[in-house]
Amino acid sequence: MNTVSESITIMPLERKDGTFALRLCLSQGELSIAMLRRVMDVMTAYGLPTLRATTGQRMNLEGVPKDKLDEIVAALGTAVEKCPPGVSVCPGSAECRYGKQETRKLGRKLTSLVKENGPYPFKVKTGVSGCSFGCGLSFVRDIGLVGKSAGWDLYFGGSATFSPGPGVALGKKLSEDEVLDRVRKALAFYKENGRKRERIGSMVRRLGHEAVAESLK
Ligand code: SF4
Repeated sequence: MNTVSESITIMPLERKDGTFALRLCLSQGELSIAMLRRVMDVMTAYGLPTLRATTGQRMNLEGVPKDKLDEIVAALGTAVEKCPPGVSVCPGSAECRYGKQETRKLGRKLTSLVKENGPYPFKVKTGVSGCSFGCGLSFVRDIGLVGKSAGWDLYFGGSATFSPGPGVALGKKLSEDEVLDRVRKALAFYKENGRKRERIGSMVRRLGHEAVAESLK
């Protein structure tokens, strides 16, 4: 059974109508019973309408009035901080019958690596999937890992927004250490060569797959 951490942070987002959403920066979409109870108590006490799941495996507590923002943040009892870089992680072999690799631990390592090596020209979203079905959105994330029987395949520069498409393969059947080392080098290449507000996929299309592959040597 996976352990759910209590140490989440929240990030306020102003909405068009002047209210705020409080984004719960969940790790891999998990919310403990204690935190869920606290959120429900706050929703009940302040008459908040919705807790909404985001595509990035987080939760938004919607409809927070501006004049109650500080009070509601205090009631939730969590620190206010920018959410760590987005990562989508499927359940992996620990829980899914199709899984070839365990995903949670590597997902946490990948999140730390991306956070520690920033800032970048633009967002870096990652995905970790335990098999080729790609439920962690690995093929269309800036960095995607796909579990195979013999290790991990690494994709770089996938996109699910404009110019959608899969990332380019930067390695097949890599060990965990190998995949993290390549991700570190690929991110360094992005920091050095990406233009401001240019996503990784756009940079790869501009410079070519070979230029990125060369930087990994
Ligand atoms: S990617 Fe594979 S291991 Fe992960 S949830 Fe989907 S089917 Fe299961």
